[in-house]
Amino acid sequence: MEGCLFVLNKRNRILAAEAMSVHSSLFQCPVCSSMMRVEDLRQLVCLKGHSFDIAKQGYVHFLPRPAPSKYGQALFRSRSILSQSGFFESLDRLITDQILTHIENQSVRLLDMGCGEGSHLARILDMMHTEGCTQAAGVGLDIAKEGVRMAASRQPHLLWCVADLARSPLASNRFDFILNILSPTNYAECHRLLRNNGFLIKVIPDNEHLQELRAAFRSSSEPHSGAKLEARFQDNFELVKSLPLCTRLKLDASLIPHAIAMTPLSWHADTRSIQSLQELSSLELTLNVTILIGRKYRQ
Ligand SMILES: [Zn+2]
Repeated sequence: MEGCLFVLNKRNRILAAEAMSVHSSLFQCPVCSSMMRVEDLRQLVCLKGHSFDIAKQGYVHFLPRPAPSKYGQALFRSRSILSQSGFFESLDRLITDQILTHIENQSVRLLDMGCGEGSHLARILDMMHTEGCTQAAGVGLDIAKEGVRMAASRQPHLLWCVADLARSPLASNRFDFILNILSPTNYAECHRLLRNNGFLIKVIPDNEHLQELRAAFRSSSEPHSGAKLEARFQDNFELVKSLPLCTRLKLDASLIPHAIAMTPLSWHADTRSIQSLQELSSLELTLNVTILIGRKYRQ
């Protein structure tokens, strides 16, 4: 069994190294900003010799030291299971349609900033592939190692990085689209990484997002600050389109624990309210977000 795992992991690292070799121009050293190349299918090395190993699962850890994160393996596994259940499918479909609408050539470069366990990026690239866009390159970046490790284990042919979103190991003006799905945005970094007229696609929560969980946990956290987030977006990008989305999916009993575990909303919930939810035979859960599509101002 261990032998099989070793072969799989070795294969993952080689697949990742090959993908990184093809797309090495997308990377730049997070220490000195010089160009990088893949060496011996094992590491990314910059012109000044700073090197970063490609992990056996197929990702590169660019942080100088591990970053503590409350987003652990269990949260990402649950989020992945919810994603596989189809909960985020309509959102991923809408994002894909927007990319296809604004695409200029086949060799499109896509970056997911705050990719978590990579479900959105992987599905969006799959959908694009089905629509005939077969040369898209996808990079997923997150500070949470557990999410990136899971993403790479499943999709080693994509490019996965554990890195600081404020100082990413990526070259300037290379990306056609940046995705930022229900996660904080570093606008300065988005501007640096996008090519002129590139697009930032940001997903923000709306009033009813996960309202069933909020109600059950009597969450005091603000359900939305959409207007504020949208105003900030418009301060930094030319708003091209704003697409609201509201869907409800009926989750069966086996999915309810994963709906609870996939979000920080449950971190401060009391045991009794979590238990009451887990005893339900089904739960209708609301996905209510707005997709903001913005173009990079020409500088
Ligand atoms: Zn360097």
